[in-house]
Amino acid sequence: MDPYELLGVDRDADDAAIKKAYRKLARQYHPDVNPDPVAQEKFKEVSHAYEILSDPQKRAAFDRGGDPFAGGFGAGQGFSFTDIMDAFFGGAGQGGAANGRGPRPRVRRGQDALIRLDIELAEAAFGVTHELKVDTAVVCDTCHGAGAAAGTQPKICETCRGAGEVAHVQRSFLGEIRTLRPCAACRGFGTIIADPCRDCGGDGRVRSRRTLTVKIPAGVDTGTRVQLAEQGEVGPGGGPAGDLYVEINVARHETFTRHGNDLHCTVTIPMTAAALGTTMSLPTLEADLPDADPEDSTFELEIKPGTQSGTEQVLRERGVPGLRGGRGSLVVTIHVETPTRLDSAQEELLRQLAVARDEEQPEGHLRASGKGVFGRFRDAFNGR
Ligand code: ZN
Repeated sequence: MDPYELLGVDRDADDAAIKKAYRKLARQYHPDVNPDPVAQEKFKEVSHAYEILSDPQKRAAFDRGGDPFAGGFGAGQGFSFTDIMDAFFGGAGQGGAANGRGPRPRVRRGQDALIRLDIELAEAAFGVTHELKVDTAVVCDTCHGAGAAAGTQPKICETCRGAGEVAHVQRSFLGEIRTLRPCAACRGFGTIIADPCRDCGGDGRVRSRRTLTVKIPAGVDTGTRVQLAEQGEVGPGGGPAGDLYVEINVARHETFTRHGNDLHCTVTIPMTAAALGTTMSLPTLEADLPDADPEDSTFELEIKPGTQSGTEQVLRERGVPGLRGGRGSLVVTIHVETPTRLDSAQEELLRQLAVARDEEQPEGHLRASGKGVFGRFRDAFNGR
């Protein structure tokens, strides 16, 4: 932690030599030039070494005390411990007077992006691959994110000497109060792009529309967000992209409604089929898929003789696959339709049936929740 050693200069080096040594190192380690975290640490160290050696008072104090970590610095030498910590670590010391963090990096991670995608129920249930048009920031092709015009480099800011912040010293009756503020000349970056790239204006990124192929897993529902890592907005300075979230919106289906992983539908059958029983073959949700297996495209519904309207049949494992495995049920509600517009022959047959069943004058059954003759009257009056 010897500033002379850090800058690679002799103990008796003059100001010009110190400045020259610092500039050479800053060019080598500056975050804009060298994104490696080790280099960034090194940049901080050499910047603080320069801060000490470029200030005659601080340099003299260091020369008197030697290595501050060997105990050479302390109270009574004109510099508080906090000052030394500030000088070395840009405000890491206690006290909170300084807020320095070194130069603000030009290269930063981009923001996440959100896009909505409308899909069909079968696509949500069984998964689908979709082409998606996305409009996000991408790395500028001209400067590859650097922001500087071809053949030029960002220059170290003269005002803050690359530190990105400048010290403001205020005198008060307690002594000097020193605070670090972002450098106004370089907006805290420590470098200035004198000749910005014409295509991105120095931002290192441009907006672009591109087509992405998105794989939507089976079992998603309205509101599910599918995360696509690093497909969001590229960051300032061509920094790593944020993530892209695809929020699913599932369209209504004309036959099936979804409750969790269960599918519900209603099948209407004629009165005669309800009485006599039958077997029906009906299309499944899979039948909507373009490459549906014929075996999965239909399901058999067995109507037992004497089936009542409102009966539910639960077909296990015929619903929507869960995102975490398993599969819901297909719940079929049977609706029995009473025939209307009978011709005379049909009417005659039904009258014969009524006689045979002794149902010419039905009694009806009054029950609390029943749907007998009186139950229907009561519902009609109650508006149900
Ligand atoms: Zn550019």
